[in-house]
Amino acid sequence: MILPVPPSPIQLLDLAAEHALLQPALNEAMQEVLESAAFIQGPAVGQFAAELGEYLGGTHVAPCANGTDALTLALMSLNLPDGAEVIVPAFTYVATLEAAALLGLRPVLADVHPDTFNLAPAAVESAITPRTGAIIAVHLFGQCADLEALRTISTQHGIPLIEDNAQAIGATFRFSSGEIVFAGAVGDVGTTSFFPSKNLGCLGDGGALLTRDSDRAALLHQLANHGQSRKYHHQRIGLNSRLDTLQAALLRVKLRQLPANTAARQAVAARYDAALATVPGLTIPARDPRSSHVFHQYTIRLADASRRDDLQGHLRRLGVPTMIYYPLPVHAQPAYAYLGHQAGQFPVAERLCGAVLSLPIHPLLTREQQEYITAGVQSFQALE
Ligand SMILES: *Cc1c(COP(=O)(O)O)cnc(C)c1O
Repeated sequence: MILPVPPSPIQLLDLAAEHALLQPALNEAMQEVLESAAFIQGPAVGQFAAELGEYLGGTHVAPCANGTDALTLALMSLNLPDGAEVIVPAFTYVATLEAAALLGLRPVLADVHPDTFNLAPAAVESAITPRTGAIIAVHLFGQCADLEALRTISTQHGIPLIEDNAQAIGATFRFSSGEIVFAGAVGDVGTTSFFPSKNLGCLGDGGALLTRDSDRAALLHQLANHGQSRKYHHQRIGLNSRLDTLQAALLRVKLRQLPANTAARQAVAARYDAALATVPGLTIPARDPRSSHVFHQYTIRLADASRRDDLQGHLRRLGVPTMIYYPLPVHAQPAYAYLGHQAGQFPVAERLCGAVLSLPIHPLLTREQQEYITAGVQSFQALE
């Protein structure tokens, strides 16, 4: 059989092409930092923080070195006792647990909702004990977790809520009160990552903390910079976790592009929805009507998990790359075996790991490429 070839090489993400469009502005930003030689805590860091805060509806932004440090710093700002429990989703990137574990806190998993992939509020409620010190919600793949229910649980039990917003920068959530809030600005602390492949990525590692509380913002700034209130005056044990001036300068350029990029991702997602909604045997991403979705990933689920790897292979042979986020649930990772969880304990997370597949989605994916991808998915289903 002669395989068709894609209209132009398809990538999961095309950062080189995205950056080529911004090349003059990126070069200028780099040149400026080079000439200023203010590589640590240069002016671009504060400027970027202010601009991102404004974009996120007037949130305080404390930049740091990466999204995992942001989670660590968020937890440090809560002053939890040793061994306190931190409730995290059973279906997430491992960094969410790692930060808690490294601080001597105990990650406690809660299963997720099968349709939205996000933390199930009922599972959070049943995971609460007198030792619970924090709840970390992850806005997986670009859509907010059930912030209405999670905020209520947080308030009722007096347990701080952290939002891991590495994948949903710019998403908003509408509460039943009518209030609309940006993801990351609802809980006590929000965190995000500027890892290159995130919706707002830099050209290396970067991250930030978000909060609407100015005292907490000051504390987070301090913790991220050796716990110092001013140079050589250390109030707390902190981290060396700063966003490089160079990355901040590049992020200022990329932030200007974020609204257009988000709209482009949403348009790609809408076209996938239209083409794939009626394909038997697969489910398109569920939309929570209260949340906008910034489509960090476009993740389909197969009804028959045993066919997932075959679909991935079929698409690979057609020149269509796909990814499995995430192939193994966190409780099945050897590093977290000490938590003592058994297979079958988080059935939704386990099922999702076997059944999900993320299709290429990025702002420069062309209609032609997308039609080729959806035809590829449809031709696999026709093989049944
Ligand atoms: C990427 C990511 C992180 C970690 O961010 P880094 O900047 O790579 O440390 C944390 N949580 C989630 C959900 C992520 O997707």
